[in-house]
Amino acid sequence: MTEKPTTPNNPSDKTCSHCQSTALTIGVSVGLSAETGWIGLKYKDGRLFLGTEPFLAEVCGSCGHIERLYVSNPNHKWTIQDKSKTP
Ligand SMILES: [Zn+2]
Repeated sequence: MTEKPTTPNNPSDKTCSHCQSTALTIGVSVGLSAETGWIGLKYKDGRLFLGTEPFLAEVCGSCGHIERLYVSNPNHKWTIQDKSKTP
C-alpha cells in the first residue's frame, strides 16, 4: 500500500553527479581505518569547549564517487588556522 519505499538514507531525488546512479548513501561517517577517531572540522564553542565536528559523506553505491562531504552542525565557531603566526 505504500506509494514510495521508505528509504531515508537514499532519497530518490538525489543522483550521483558522476554516473547518475540513484544509489547514494547519505550520512556515512568518515573515520580512520583503525577506528580511533574521525576526521572532522575543529571548533571552539565558548572559551574552553574544543571539539571536532565529524565529516559525513554521501557515497554513490554504484561507482564509489563521494558526492559531497558535509557536517551535520554547521553552526560551530570554527577554528581557523592563523597563518600570521609562524609555527
Ligand atoms: Zn556514481
